Amino acid sequence: MDDRANISLADLDREALFHPVSSIHDLQTKGPVIYTGAQGVEVTREGGQTLIDMGAGLWCVNVGYGRPELVAAGAQAMQDLSFQHFFGGASAEPTIRLADRLLGLFNETVPGADMARVFFGCSGSDANDTALKLVIYYNNLRGLPAKKKVISRKGAYHGLTYAAASLTGIEGYHTAFDLPMPGVLHTSCPHHYAFAQDGETEAAFTDRLIVELEEMIAREGADTVAAFIAEPVMGTGGVFLPPAGYFDRVQQVLDRHDILLIADEVITGFGRTGAWFGSETYGIRPDIVSLAKGLTSAYFPMSASIVSRRIWEVLEGASAKMGALMHGFTYSGHPVGAAIAMANLDLMEAEDMPANAARLGPVLLEALRSKVGDHPLVGDIRGVGLMAAVEFVADRATRARLPVGAHKLVAAHAMNQGVLTRALPFLPVTSMSPPLSITEGQIDEATTRYAR
Ligand code: PLP
Repeated sequence: MDDRANISLADLDREALFHPVSSIHDLQTKGPVIYTGAQGVEVTREGGQTLIDMGAGLWCVNVGYGRPELVAAGAQAMQDLSFQHFFGGASAEPTIRLADRLLGLFNETVPGADMARVFFGCSGSDANDTALKLVIYYNNLRGLPAKKKVISRKGAYHGLTYAAASLTGIEGYHTAFDLPMPGVLHTSCPHHYAFAQDGETEAAFTDRLIVELEEMIAREGADTVAAFIAEPVMGTGGVFLPPAGYFDRVQQVLDRHDILLIADEVITGFGRTGAWFGSETYGIRPDIVSLAKGLTSAYFPMSASIVSRRIWEVLEGASAKMGALMHGFTYSGHPVGAAIAMANLDLMEAEDMPANAARLGPVLLEALRSKVGDHPLVGDIRGVGLMAAVEFVADRATRARLPVGAHKLVAAHAMNQGVLTRALPFLPVTSMSPPLSITEGQIDEATTRYAR
């Protein structure tokens, strides 16, 4: 084993690891980028270069890196009760308190919300798997065994487990894995900039999307469609903001056909859009909410699925007859994760981070518009809260897209200038979603480096 100590970390990585959502070929030839530390909004690379992390990891380090309050909460929780499972009725205080707090937070901030219970998991993908299984369970309990299909949207990103990757609406995640699985449909992407017809207003575009949704439901039969899943703002697909009135209209269609709405708030939860939840920003009344990322600011892998009272009443009502709910994970409700989530929420409240995101979102957009907005290859700059995108085009007038790949050069160049942005995998877009603790000065510095 000793001779392994002499091998460079990059070579060890090449010999021992394979990475998620990465090219095996590129890693074998170019090697990995190794990070050694992080503090505040900055990350440090092997060799000492520091970069402003305008991605907050993968849209997740909402309170910034190295916060001692979260470290202390995690250490104390590990000391007190390093693990407790929740199978068969076992429980623990941090998790109970977190569930209660999440319900309160969601119901108090999202108008019309009537959420009743919380289920915990470990990742955004498993939260969406849980949502899907609950939808199936719910309709089995209601005696509607044919009502099982789920409508997602092209361009959606819901994770990469077998079921979540099927919900994801980006072909690049499907083709090599024989996905999507049966029973998942994808309706059109509500991105006005790229998909509106010539001269089509946002309202007319929304009308067209709603007609399409209605037609899809009619074609499939409303008695076979169980749920519709949507990110309030589509993240990985391209930072697509919903057109005006979209969710209201979608909700009306779903209500008419007894179809549940799953809000995937894995990115938009916990302040990202300038409110606690994207459901508040866009007036969504979901039946199930998937949360992860900002729940612990990625200090611990943890997810939550919040279910509405109407679902809960069916689950509870049938429980004596059904027996145990046979779903869950070893780490569901992990008390260390829950304690960290509580400390994370304390910090977010103390520093009013959703308000910080609301205040600084326009600052970030204005900085991007003034520094790179005139570039002939920049087609669109958009965002909400601290979630922004620069979309590249070959021609600003026709909005013809640049081939995917060119924007990776932009992100690579930005990295050399000391700023991390995310080159999205299947669209010529670089996204920015910095920690919500970022300051105006840091936004100015990051966007200046990006524009260099
Ligand atoms: N849902 C959304 C909206 C996401 O952005 C992501 C991850 O980026 C996921 C689900 C999947 O989360 P995870 O990677 O934790 O499984």
